[in-house]
Amino acid sequence: MQRSTSRLSRALLSLVLTGSLYFVAATFALLLSRFEGGLAFIWGANAYVMAKLLTTRVRRWPPIILTCAIASALSTSLFGMGPLAAIPMAVINMAEALIVALICRHFLSDRPTIGATRPLMIFILALCAVADVITGIPAAAVASLLTPVSFGASWVQWYTGHALGGLICAPILVMLMQGELRRWRRDKSRAEKIEAVLILALFTLIIVHIFYWARYPMLFAPLLPLVLIAFRVGHMGAAASIVILALVGGTATLSGGGPLAIVSADMGARIQAFQFYLALSFLLSMPVAAELNGRRRLFQLLRESEARYRAIAEHSGDVVLNIGVTGIIDYASPSAFEQVGCAPELLIGQSAADLVDPQDRPQVIAAHRRALMRPGSIHTVEFRPLLSIGAMEWCEMVTRAVVDERGQPSGVISTIRDMSRHKARQRALQQVAARDSLTGADSRRAFLEKLEAEILRTRHGVRSSLLLIDIDHFKAVNDVHGHGVGDEVLTAFVDRLTPGLSAQDSIGRLGGEEFAILLPDSDIDRASLLCERLRALLLDPIPVSCGKHIGITFSAGLVELDDTSTRSAMLEAADKALYRAKHSGRNCLRLAA
Ligand code: GH3
Ligand code: MG
Ligand code: MG
Repeated sequence: MQRSTSRLSRALLSLVLTGSLYFVAATFALLLSRFEGGLAFIWGANAYVMAKLLTTRVRRWPPIILTCAIASALSTSLFGMGPLAAIPMAVINMAEALIVALICRHFLSDRPTIGATRPLMIFILALCAVADVITGIPAAAVASLLTPVSFGASWVQWYTGHALGGLICAPILVMLMQGELRRWRRDKSRAEKIEAVLILALFTLIIVHIFYWARYPMLFAPLLPLVLIAFRVGHMGAAASIVILALVGGTATLSGGGPLAIVSADMGARIQAFQFYLALSFLLSMPVAAELNGRRRLFQLLRESEARYRAIAEHSGDVVLNIGVTGIIDYASPSAFEQVGCAPELLIGQSAADLVDPQDRPQVIAAHRRALMRPGSIHTVEFRPLLSIGAMEWCEMVTRAVVDERGQPSGVISTIRDMSRHKARQRALQQVAARDSLTGADSRRAFLEKLEAEILRTRHGVRSSLLLIDIDHFKAVNDVHGHGVGDEVLTAFVDRLTPGLSAQDSIGRLGGEEFAILLPDSDIDRASLLCERLRALLLDPIPVSCGKHIGITFSAGLVELDDTSTRSAMLEAADKALYRAKHSGRNCLRLAA
């Protein structure tokens, strides 16, 4: 309860302060710059409302606008065009600030920081191209109705006074309200602060000289120091230099001195010219400072990300390489020493392809090119290294392009990982999958792959054959001696036949007690002879663990491979021949039709 009361009184106090400040700024402008008896020529009060709105949440806007509207009405009725103009001018003043704030909010979703280029540009456009053009119309209408000043002259007075006042004051006020001055004091070193103070003191001296002592009009002279300050002291320095210029120059001009005194026009026109000069100075230094500020922030972010990336690269077990577009190594992480056996410094300047076994170079180069062509995507390639210490036989390289500020790839970052263990495991698994676990013959899948490859070979004039074998009455073996004995017989069957095959022949188990033998470089005659030799190998019964001996025979179908046929057509032809062999009384060979 107590806390909410104190919060309420704080909010009320802040509103009273806001209203008072607006009242002071408005009254000051009205007393000082109503040169023609109509609108004021200088108007910084609305810049204060804009800065307030831009730095507070939207739900806090209504009380601020209401308070400043009351302050505006009071100031107008007491020191301006009188009570009749008070309410319309308050509405128009608040409309100007509101239009600017709404446009900035719309385009800058987060809290706008005017110390960056884009927000500053949006603010300038919102103020000069929209808000003041529109609000100038009702303001000029009120002024032309209530004072002798014409509509056209009133519009120009409103536009210049408000655009220039807003342009000069609002960004500086936003910066102050967002704590930029505090941040500047916190972030800058002592030496930088001393430099800033000295430069600004020197600048003040130059301005005093130009506006009070110089015998010639030298309005161009502050431009160079303004840019210098923007570079050396940043956007806070640029803002400070504009404030110095406004205070010293404004006082001199209002008191009838300074280089503008030679303009043979009334005070209103001189003040307009001075504000115009001030706005130009502002437009010269602030965007430069904002851009530099943006770059400084970017540089800081870059330095942080560089430090992060370096920490990862230097502590990772993987080798991290930066490779240029032409394939030359620009950076190698320290782990290169453990993995490749080469100091990272020695790798820099070498071609990355030289680290790769010549057999795998084309794939690695292709992955590098793909990464450069499609920045943003990740490309993975496996290769054997040319140099390695220890057991690194296989590596995996993950590559991603690095792009420059135009989005063009400037190189790649590659992470190289030892894949030897993974590869060995993969190979072992492949070997397991390629073997029939019971008999040790090729698995069905491995055999069919070999058959496919052999059919392709026959296109080059090679003559090869496929022999399909099925054990006769095998069911009876199981039925009489049990399944275990059946298994023993199947294993022994393959063991018996294998010595009869040459190294290039392969035997595969297609399923159950059905086998296939691939006979490369064997025409149908040679294959028939071989089949009979195999049959001879089974003449002796097979001894099994229970002490018994089991005699088995097989039926076979033979087909010579044909380069125009498919794998399944070949198998079907051999199967039909096998079927005929079964129907011819078993234990015999039949050739495919
Ligand atoms: P055919 O001369 O007509 O080929 O007669 P078969 O008894 O050999 O043929 P069938 O297709 O009727 O029976 C095949 C048998 O092979 C049936 C099945 O129990 C047996 N079998 C299939 N795979 C295995 C195995 O892995 N181990 C054992 N022990 N028997 C198997
Ligand atoms: Mg059988
Ligand atoms: Mg069978």
